[in-house]
Amino acid sequence: MSSPHMGGTEQEFVKEAFDTNWIAPLGPNVNGFEHDLELFLGEGSHVAALSSGTAGIHLGLVLLGVQPGDEVLCQSMTFSATANPIKYLNATPIFVDSEADTWNMSPELLETAIKDRIAKGKKPKVIMPVHLYGMPAKMHEINGIAQKYGIPVLEDAAEALGSSINGKQCGTFADISVLSFNGNKIITTSGGGALVSAAANVVQDARFLATQARDEAPHYQHSRVGYNYRMSNLCAGVGRGQMQVLADRIASRRAIYNQYTDVLGSKKGISFCSEPDGYFSNRWLSTILIDSNVAGVSREDLRLALEKENIESRPLWKPMHMQPVFEGCAFYGDGTSERLFRDGLCLPSGSNLSADDMDRVMEVIHAVIK
Ligand SMILES: *Cc1c(COP(=O)(O)O)cnc(C)c1O
Repeated sequence: MSSPHMGGTEQEFVKEAFDTNWIAPLGPNVNGFEHDLELFLGEGSHVAALSSGTAGIHLGLVLLGVQPGDEVLCQSMTFSATANPIKYLNATPIFVDSEADTWNMSPELLETAIKDRIAKGKKPKVIMPVHLYGMPAKMHEINGIAQKYGIPVLEDAAEALGSSINGKQCGTFADISVLSFNGNKIITTSGGGALVSAAANVVQDARFLATQARDEAPHYQHSRVGYNYRMSNLCAGVGRGQMQVLADRIASRRAIYNQYTDVLGSKKGISFCSEPDGYFSNRWLSTILIDSNVAGVSREDLRLALEKENIESRPLWKPMHMQPVFEGCAFYGDGTSERLFRDGLCLPSGSNLSADDMDRVMEVIHAVIK
């Protein structure tokens, strides 16, 4: 569905790390990768390269001061890695439903949730929107509400490197933003992530906490709880090579999405998540909704037909408020994410899919959807 796609120069950076014995965590590739990301994101971004996106979300919540018992507002429709770090801190996730345009956090339901939590006696500590499948969330509206109530925003941009709203990159819309370079993302470091902020001191604190929170002293001295969350210099070498092909990867993913919409866009009961005005999605994954009442087939019919041909597809993220692990958590919703989960399918989307691969996929789709 979305496998690693090397550009060619990654091995040169990794070889250089071997030749100079920079095999330990940190080193020139980490600095170089952070610099590449800062240039790409713009807006005066500072970047700390980390061992994973999940680590970035965990550190982000720590840096925003989340304490045991605090409430954190989190998009329900997402991968569990967005919500799990709330639990690492013994804080309480409060889930917010999606809206139909971008499939991301509904600004209206966000405000409903904030008002209700305040009425119940507790102001939420952080707001966590996600840019699902590369489609930017309604960040202007969300940030407006965040400002109105004085609540910081942690942006989960794990799936959205290269996506933007009116030219401003995802990963620059919040107090703290997080990227992922896991093997299935638009570019990969084999495993890795980053914490991004326009505030240099926040990123400096992130680096400090991510390297075991060592105070300045000749001996090991600690006044805070630390983490081992930095990216290794070998992984960062892969990242530097991948940054050289990021623009190509975005173009390929968008071309794949366009192939799906060209073929399926006019079919009854089939719909896509199209870009609102000014929105640009990296189309990390191509996704469709199948309204089985109209289309006469369900998303499961299509998934099973693809599986029979050894082609991987997957239902959209199952919302967090429906997950056993988060049973009992508060949820503010109107049924949107439940409908998306019922009707939605992620299609093969990797930038390394060949024309033959796409022909095979299309053949199955044509046979199922008349
Ligand atoms: C991949 C992903 C993460 C986690 O990133 P890792 O680098 O795999 O830890 C977090 N949130 C979302 C939405 C993701 O897709």
